[in-house]
Amino acid sequence: MKRGFLLAVLLCLGALPALAQTPAPAWSADINEIRHVAAMIPGARPLRINVLKFAESRRTKNFSVKGAPKDPSIQARTAFQVVYRDGTVMVDSGMDLQVHKFFGRGVEEPYFPEQAQQVERALRSAKAIVMTHEHGDHVAGVIRSPFFAELAPKTVLTRTQVQTLMTEPQMPEIKITPDVAKRFIVIDYDKYYPFAPGMALIKAPGHTPGSQMIYVVLDSGKEYVLAGDVAWHMDGVRTVTGKDAPWITEDEPYVGAELTWLNMLTRTEKNVTVVLSHDEEQRLDNIKQKILGDRFE
Ligand SMILES: [Zn+2]
Repeated sequence: MKRGFLLAVLLCLGALPALAQTPAPAWSADINEIRHVAAMIPGARPLRINVLKFAESRRTKNFSVKGAPKDPSIQARTAFQVVYRDGTVMVDSGMDLQVHKFFGRGVEEPYFPEQAQQVERALRSAKAIVMTHEHGDHVAGVIRSPFFAELAPKTVLTRTQVQTLMTEPQMPEIKITPDVAKRFIVIDYDKYYPFAPGMALIKAPGHTPGSQMIYVVLDSGKEYVLAGDVAWHMDGVRTVTGKDAPWITEDEPYVGAELTWLNMLTRTEKNVTVVLSHDEEQRLDNIKQKILGDRFE
């Protein structure tokens, strides 16, 4: 009797995938679970988030959003500073001039040395540094820093980020050896990770294998998802459209599922601001609306 019941249940479960209309997305996330994870570490939540642009890339918009017109567009290169009462956390670390020149591929693009120095100062004074992903414009500010010995022990990389940097770095300048890898704090997690009071990491491979998004809730209750390079322009989120950039290799089903989720957030979670790393129009708008501060402290 009991065995028959179990068999029936198993048969039903087995039939479920066949009944489903659409296959499960490659990736999914739940904002309420993320909120819960961000509340796991006790302590006062952050007060504000600052953004700083230290360089620009000039690429027509069709690279950022597939099918968009080939209009000139500015990609900001940025780092973020999450400010607590008693210290700061840096999200991404900028890059030096040499790595910047790698991205230009012979074309001169703007680099702002004064701002790059402010990023360096902010990294040195931060309590912790975390990276949205392992591309040069996000990690070189630590990996190639003259202050590497000081920064590495407070830099948190994921196992996957370290793996990519060791075996398939975006450019030779950011390749690390196993010995260098040991100097970072290396973490591994399944879906979400409680990083600091009011901060949670969201695993989001796709743009790179080690990509993650960073959820922040402020003391005021205002929420952010620092989405890194899941999209380069908010039009990609608004229209759920990926990039068309032949020089990067993305896992498209993952990026597509992440864009779908971010799009849903922007429509249904009015308290959450999705922040991209490279959207210059969005950066200016967020500063104007005082959603982000425009200098490092
Ligand atoms: Zn980037």
